[in-house]
Amino acid sequence: MKGFAMLEIGKTGWIEKEKPECGVNDAIIKPLALSPCTSDVHTVWEGAIGERHNMILGHEGCGVVVEVGSNVKDFKVGDRVMVAAITPDWNSLEAQGGYPMHSGGMLAGWKFSNFKDGVFAEYFHVNDADGNLAHLPDTISPEEACMLSDMVPTGFHGVELADVQFGDTVLVIGIGPVGLMAVAGANLRGASRILAVGTRPVCIEAAKGYGATDFISYKDGPIDEQVLKLTNGKGVDKIIIAGGGVETFEPAIKCLKPGGNIGNVNYLGEGVYVNIPREEWGVGMGHKQINGGLMPGGRLRLQKLASLIEVGKLDVKPLLTHKFKGFEHVEDALMLMKDKPRDLIKPVVILE
Ligand code: NDP
Ligand code: ZN
Repeated sequence: MKGFAMLEIGKTGWIEKEKPECGVNDAIIKPLALSPCTSDVHTVWEGAIGERHNMILGHEGCGVVVEVGSNVKDFKVGDRVMVAAITPDWNSLEAQGGYPMHSGGMLAGWKFSNFKDGVFAEYFHVNDADGNLAHLPDTISPEEACMLSDMVPTGFHGVELADVQFGDTVLVIGIGPVGLMAVAGANLRGASRILAVGTRPVCIEAAKGYGATDFISYKDGPIDEQVLKLTNGKGVDKIIIAGGGVETFEPAIKCLKPGGNIGNVNYLGEGVYVNIPREEWGVGMGHKQINGGLMPGGRLRLQKLASLIEVGKLDVKPLLTHKFKGFEHVEDALMLMKDKPRDLIKPVVILE
């Protein structure tokens, strides 16, 4: 089969590989739609997970089941399915402990284009199919389903980590597709004001649609100063970080109220330490929590998040700014993600 792969750090290309083998608990999927992620860019061009040779990229997609293992109960050949980017081993101790995304080791629930070939292939393999697949409802298109692999669950996990409550004033740092879903999630959770940090006009427009009320450019001076000005010196109740680098934690702590939480889902690619300003952290006693997490995967979560689209409470279509038709365009879509033109939120490739 054909796949679009990371050949080595900094290099991509089309390769031929054997079709993956299906274990007794697994499924083999033929993709219907695929989408590249900022994480694929980190993987290839920043060496984020170290060297990989001829590893097929991609972890966002949906498809049709073409093979199932003998233990798989709830899925059969021909089923249209959604797949999460994170595919834990659900019988692991970590999953039993409530942290499926770390099954098998820290962050090891992330398998696609990390420990095994990803989804940018004619066929891809899903472990623990009953736990990691969900039936794709007829009312959700394959391109929308791609946003349920990672963008929706990750942005919403930021909201969970920040523990957004009714009436909270929330700051979302970074409004790419992940941050936009954090804005949407905070809005669904009942946030009052939602302050959004970003500069791309297309993202600002989308953020307005998802419920953001105030806009801040990180290019116009320190984020904390702008937030304090907008909130009459009070600061915000909760913060979600979905962009920038290690330097975002300092302004975040400075404009977070005592008792507030930071939920980070951003990948921190550089720097040795995260600096926490001592005084604004209440000299160690400010009850300002920092929670960083990889999103959980799983069928139940996929079904629940999909149900928000089904009933019309969440619309992911505004994320899909660039659409391609045909598997061969996976390469163009990834390059677009790498170059991030100002009018891009998310590219998607429709295969059928
Ligand atoms: P984008 O690059 O599309 O968006 C990044 C956002 O951060 C943009 O709004 C950008 O603003 C803003 N930004 C850039 N620099 C700064 C800065 N210095 N201070 C504040 N904001 C800044 O990324 P994605 O939305 O695709 O992904 C966001 C992050 O989430 C990535 O790091 C990605 O790897 C990670 N991720 C994590 C996952 C998880 O499971 N934890 C899963 C998937 C992704 P501008 O408008 O100027 O571009
Ligand atoms: Zn992703």
